[in-house]
Amino acid sequence: MSLPEQLQKSMTENPAPVHAEISVLEIELSGLTMSAKQEEWQKIGVQKIILHADKTLDSQRVLEYARTLRQNGLQTELLIPADLRNEYDDPTGLRLFCRAGTDAEVEELCNDSKLCGIELIYTGADAVSDFVKAAQRCKAASLEVRFGCSDAFINASLEEIRKIADANERSPYPVGMNCMRAINSCFIAADGEVYPCQGCRISMGNMKETSLHEILQNSTVFSFYRNFREQLKKPCRDCAIFGQCVGCRGRAYHATGDFLAADPACPRSEKEHDKILSLPIRDPANYMPHKPPMLMVSTLHTVADNLCETDCTVAEDNPFLREDSTLHPSAFIEIGAQSLAFLDTFLHPGKHLNGMLVEVMRFENKKEKIKVGDTLFIICRKSYEMPPWSIGEFEIFRDHANGKPVAKGELKVCQFSAAEKP
Ligand code: SF4
Ligand code: SF4
Repeated sequence: MSLPEQLQKSMTENPAPVHAEISVLEIELSGLTMSAKQEEWQKIGVQKIILHADKTLDSQRVLEYARTLRQNGLQTELLIPADLRNEYDDPTGLRLFCRAGTDAEVEELCNDSKLCGIELIYTGADAVSDFVKAAQRCKAASLEVRFGCSDAFINASLEEIRKIADANERSPYPVGMNCMRAINSCFIAADGEVYPCQGCRISMGNMKETSLHEILQNSTVFSFYRNFREQLKKPCRDCAIFGQCVGCRGRAYHATGDFLAADPACPRSEKEHDKILSLPIRDPANYMPHKPPMLMVSTLHTVADNLCETDCTVAEDNPFLREDSTLHPSAFIEIGAQSLAFLDTFLHPGKHLNGMLVEVMRFENKKEKIKVGDTLFIICRKSYEMPPWSIGEFEIFRDHANGKPVAKGELKVCQFSAAEKP
């Protein structure tokens, strides 16, 4: 049986493994559009729902919705803005958190016996010390304070984070405030986009188009975060408290472009911050098994969920050049394959993966003349993966901002780690 036939057989007989289980979901409620999904949530193991309400919502509808969830056996928490708490006077057994913005609001909320908890939102370097101290002064026995995120928190510098650390006795290294939400739950925004957490805005899919089960099952980000002990990078991975803390995933992603990177604003790992790499990556030779002139892809610009963007500038010694100095169309297939390989080697640092291109499908070439010195932009998407097999799509553009691709296609690859290589 040929390799393409083996691949087809293997994919038919072995559907992708089910790993899409999650116990906590956070949902932004604007519009209450996701009500039809309850059955599906329970099917994938969800036990707890945290509903994020906002000022555009009618509190009675929110409460009604939350009660329905609870009656269906889901633990339910409501997270509401601090200034709306009077509208939720009667949460009837629901756990009620308030999202607090200022020191005064925290003080006031701490004395409010109706509350189960407060979610603190970092409002900026000047306010944060007082803000955290206000929460610490809170004497209410039942009060649970948890730290939320905001753009200000995610973009906070090392200096600002150190101030939070100094002010916060409960958690000496409050990098992600020991927040494990990207690891333990996921966040559904009002428009249906699914993210690892509220601040880590890597789209894993949209619930208006795809079921949550399918989104989680096919998401590399979801799967890598579930296996965070093997996947997150140093210095977090070598840290003594790794596992209780994984850094703020939102900040790591937004600061470096790499969702597996260590948190670059952690005082604890300060001396090793130069080891944290950021995209774009311009030294492909350090990642890829190919060597020039065969190595054609020059830069890895972005990595998202099952997706990457690279570029390639055509060199004078490119082995695919024809006599008229234009690129032979077979080069596009190699460029697509190298881009997919770049994504893999970036996600698996230190592991040199050896692969073999098994089949090219739906290849289209617009027959444009690409010459020495031209730069091409490549978008690659992994559409299927079940080791050692994978399928990826690629599109190659002259101008990635607009315009049609000059070539595109689908590649089936068989990939072995060095140890497994036959
Ligand atoms: S890990 Fe996510 S939820 Fe937690 S603080 Fe960071 S961005 Fe916010
Ligand atoms: S090095 Fe990473 S795991 Fe350790 S405290 Fe800092 S952010 Fe948390």
